[in-house]
Amino acid sequence: MKCIGIDIGRTFIKAGVVENKGNIIKKEQIPTRGEEGKREVVLSQIENAIDFCFKGEDKKEIKGIGIGTPGLVDNNGIVYEAPNLPGWDNLPLREIIEKKYNIKTIVENDVNTIAWGEYLFGAGKGCKTMICITLGTGVGGGIVKDGKLLRGEKYSAVEIGHITIDYKGQKCKCGNYGCIERYVGRDYIVERAVNAIKEGKETKIYELVGGNLNKITPKTISQAYNLGDEVAKDIWTDVGICLGALFSSLINPLNPDIIVIGGGISQAGDILFETIRKTIKQRAMDVLAKSVEIVPAGLGVNAGIISGASLVFQK
Ligand SMILES: [Zn+2]
Repeated sequence: MKCIGIDIGRTFIKAGVVENKGNIIKKEQIPTRGEEGKREVVLSQIENAIDFCFKGEDKKEIKGIGIGTPGLVDNNGIVYEAPNLPGWDNLPLREIIEKKYNIKTIVENDVNTIAWGEYLFGAGKGCKTMICITLGTGVGGGIVKDGKLLRGEKYSAVEIGHITIDYKGQKCKCGNYGCIERYVGRDYIVERAVNAIKEGKETKIYELVGGNLNKITPKTISQAYNLGDEVAKDIWTDVGICLGALFSSLINPLNPDIIVIGGGISQAGDILFETIRKTIKQRAMDVLAKSVEIVPAGLGVNAGIISGASLVFQK
């Protein structure tokens, strides 16, 4: 049995045919073309990606199409408020694809999709209750509880990035204050380094970018950390404490057996993971802290395609 997995990203649509052990048989990526400002253009790109997947396949063997998209997705597969995609609001994506291809189609929020993929085929395989978080420009998350992807009453829920960790904190772009994303989102991590330099702190980050502060990335901060830089160490330690505090607040009510961390920022590696583990030990309730594992995501660069297909596969 095979399924088609589609991952709609800001720059590229990734698509592939995945068999039921989670292996990719073939894959392709094509430009999303969202910057052209027309939703029909993006829709036709999605159809081009699906057409590629069907080409040369026996249609009877394809069980369905699973699509991970930015934005909120309601129980009918209608997408709302997708950032960076023009007109991607009140869009009946499931109906459009199902009608065109006459095949079972499941549409889910992109991060919820990754959570389900990690649960079925990745780092969460075999667990019962899992929190999956992706750390990048934004902070997203999905939760699997007792073998089911957690959704809200009507919409894809679990906007973990907008949980407040400091009620007197900085204003977030969502309108709330002190959201975790405001502290560990990519640009805010970079901002910490820029501020340290502006305050006159000695750091190798400055040398690594040749004095051009616009060139600082989380990778630069990691490079400086590996060179023994104290400012870089402080940044990753504080990011780890923020995340550890967030996870403690989720561990106490949910008692997950595993927390899976993916996305570009998770590449910061040991300093980040060790600080998160230490903070959870200090802050979460003892027995709950002892029964949770903190692990990196397992699906790698093809996570979006495998996870998209995983929406159609049941456990
Ligand atoms: Zn927010």
